[in-house]
Amino acid sequence: MGLFDRIKKGLAKTRAALSEKVSAVFKSGRKIDDELLAELEEVLLTGDVGWETTEELLARLKEAAVEDNGRTEPEELLRRVVVQMLGDAGAPVELGVNAQPPCVVLVLGVNGTGKTTTIAKLAHYYRERGKKVMLAAGDTFRAAAIDQLRIWAERTRCQMISSKPGADSAAVIYDAFEAAIHRGMDYLIVDTAGRLHTKSNLMKELEKVARVLKKKREDAPHEVLLVLDATTGQNGLVQAQEFTRAIPITGLVLTKIDGTAKGGILLSIARTLKVPIRFVGFGESLEDIALFDAEQFAAGLLGERKAQSLESL
Ligand code: GDP
Repeated sequence: MGLFDRIKKGLAKTRAALSEKVSAVFKSGRKIDDELLAELEEVLLTGDVGWETTEELLARLKEAAVEDNGRTEPEELLRRVVVQMLGDAGAPVELGVNAQPPCVVLVLGVNGTGKTTTIAKLAHYYRERGKKVMLAAGDTFRAAAIDQLRIWAERTRCQMISSKPGADSAAVIYDAFEAAIHRGMDYLIVDTAGRLHTKSNLMKELEKVARVLKKKREDAPHEVLLVLDATTGQNGLVQAQEFTRAIPITGLVLTKIDGTAKGGILLSIARTLKVPIRFVGFGESLEDIALFDAEQFAAGLLGERKAQSLESL
C-alpha cells in the first residue's frame, strides 16, 4: 500500500463520520448560503473540529464563495479552505533541516500517548532514508521504558545509549549526545520521562535536559516534539500547554488518528497551540507515520472523491 493509501486508511473512521455528512450537506448543486453553513457547522462540531476553528472555517468558506462567484463547486471550495487551514498548521518539513548533525530530537509526552512507538517510527523513517540514527533512553524513571526502547532499537537496527533505572536523565542524554557526535550520527532521538513523582519535577527535569544539551552545543536540542494522542481530544490541548511552559516545542506529533472518528481535531490543535504538526501516526506498525502534509490530510479527511483529484501528487 502506498503512503497516501495508508493515510486514507488511518483516517477511515473520521472520514466515515465527517466526509459522508459533509457530502450530504452539499448534495445536488446547493449554493453556499446561511442554511448550508448552519448545517455544515453542525457536522464540523460533531467531528471535533472545535468551536472557534469551525467558525473560522465557515468564515473563510463564505469569503471564498464570494470571491469565487460560483465558478467552483462548493464542496471543492470547502476542500481548498481545509487545505489552507491545515497548511496553517504546518508545512511538510523534515526534522532538523538546518541543524549541523547530529540533530537532537527530544520527544516529550505523557505516558500512553504513543511516545515510544513514535520514537521507533521516526527511527525507522530516517533509517529508510539512509540516515544514521541513535536512540537515547532518557526516561530513567521507569525500567520498562528503557527495556521497551531497547526492543525498538534492535528492531530498527539503531544504536542506543542507556543507563540504569533511576540514573540522572540529563546525564544519560548528555552522554548520548557525545556518543552521537563521535559516531557521526545524523539523528539522536531522545526519549524523556512521561511522568515523575510530581508534575513540577517533570517540567524541571525537561528544563535541565535542555540546559545540559546547550552546554555541548548552543543550538541543541534542535527539535522538541510533543506527542499528543488524538483520541484524547481536548484533554491533549491542556497537557500540551503545560509542556510548552517548561520548554519551547518545535512541533507536534499526533498519534492514534486511526483510533478516532474525531480526526477533525487536527484542524483545531495546531491552530490553538500555534505549534506546527510535524508528523501524524495512524497505526501500530513502524510504517504508520507520515510527515504532515495538508493536501494529503485534507483528502484523507474529506474522502475518496476528493482524493482522486490529488492523483497528481
Ligand atoms: P508511551 O507510553 O507514550 O511510550 O506509549 P507507547 O508507545 O507504548 O504506546 C501506547 C500504546 O498505543 C501501544 O499499544 C501502541 O501500540 C499504541 N499506539 C501508539 N501509536 C499508535 C497509533 O498511531 N495508532 C494506534 N492505533 N495505536 C498506537
